[in-house]
Amino acid sequence: MSNPTFTVRLAGSAASFPNTAGDTLLRAGLRAGLGLAYECSAGGCGSCKCDIVQGEVEDLWPEAPGLSAKDRAKGRRLACQCRPLSDCEIKMRSGPEYVSTHTPVRFQASYLGSRAVTRDIREFRFRANQPARFAPGQYALLDLPGLGQLRAYSMSNLANEAGDWHFMVRQVPQGRAGKLLFETLQPGDSVAIDGPLGLAQLRPDAPRDVVCIAGGSGLAPMLSIANAACLQPGRRSIGLFYGGRSPADMPVFNDWLAEPQRVQVHAAVSTEPPPEGDGWTGERGFVHELLARRLQGNFAAHDYYLAGPPPMIEVLVRMLVVDHQVPAEHIHYDRFF
Ligand SMILES: Cc1cc2nc3c(=O)[nH]c(=O)nc-3n(C[C@H](O)[C@H](O)[C@H](O)COP(=O)(O)OP(=O)(O)OC[C@H]3O[C@@H](n4cnc5c(N)ncnc54)[C@H](O)[C@@H]3O)c2cc1C
Repeated sequence: MSNPTFTVRLAGSAASFPNTAGDTLLRAGLRAGLGLAYECSAGGCGSCKCDIVQGEVEDLWPEAPGLSAKDRAKGRRLACQCRPLSDCEIKMRSGPEYVSTHTPVRFQASYLGSRAVTRDIREFRFRANQPARFAPGQYALLDLPGLGQLRAYSMSNLANEAGDWHFMVRQVPQGRAGKLLFETLQPGDSVAIDGPLGLAQLRPDAPRDVVCIAGGSGLAPMLSIANAACLQPGRRSIGLFYGGRSPADMPVFNDWLAEPQRVQVHAAVSTEPPPEGDGWTGERGFVHELLARRLQGNFAAHDYYLAGPPPMIEVLVRMLVVDHQVPAEHIHYDRFF
């Protein structure tokens, strides 16, 4: 028997969309081509908060950090964490800027294998039996067997006809998805992928030079953007800035860049070396400090793509917008958490 489908109406507009039971409000709306506001679609950023004007929903993660206590007291929900149990009317932000370039779909993919990127990041490769359609910089939600929750991971490769989806995952202490990926998943295992999602994608028509700035597992979408920018005729300069804590956090960049001679890589480690040294002869400090040193006041000429831990994003955005008057529309990132 097929799942029932509910109708969700968007208050204050003529828009409505079909929502198959089991799908979240956000993803069903995006699948129907609506521009519902969102960023992480993983319960963290709060961009998809909504009011349920009418109808009943199931909240998959009532404690999700994307809602404040005040929001909760007002009965607000996150569209990325709610599934309808009846026809509904919801009130939430929407706009053409949120319409997906590639409609997100859920499909099965087979796990092919992995290889090391740094001491705690591995690249995991999957293949589906349909072309992989996404924009550089986007992410997808992985439904790993036995986890019961979705996890967002950015694609490190480019769209392709073979159906290949590559993700770079950092293993965090006690991380449940990380444990499944690093220790349990076997080649040939099937994983459901839902995507693509995300708005921090390469703007192919922007005339400015490209600057990608990554920390930790933010490397994946920045490699995808840098490699895609290399393929664009007439693109003048492509910079990739990367910050890691220690030399062991540094990838061998040339192994991951399709045209290493086209990308200027700038890397810095932030931890002071031990008395006996750590063998690092490159730059030290935080990645935003390195960026400031290298751009030397020439900030307006670039489009900035950022991915990494929230404190890194915060300090970069403040530096670019407040200290160097970079227009906010030249800075692209999806809030991670
Ligand atoms: C847009 C986006 C892109 C990302 N891209 C990458 C990437 O490319 N590489 C990478 O390594 N990491 C990425 N992350 C982080 C990644 O999704 C995981 O949070 C991280 O791998 C830790 O997961 P874990 O299960 O190993 O750790 P755990 O500590 O077991 O889980 C932590 C995470 O689980 C989620 N969570 C907790 N409870 C629930 C619940 N009840 N329902 C649903 N979710 C819950 C939260 O996202 C939380 O951050 C991204 C996150 C976002 C939002």
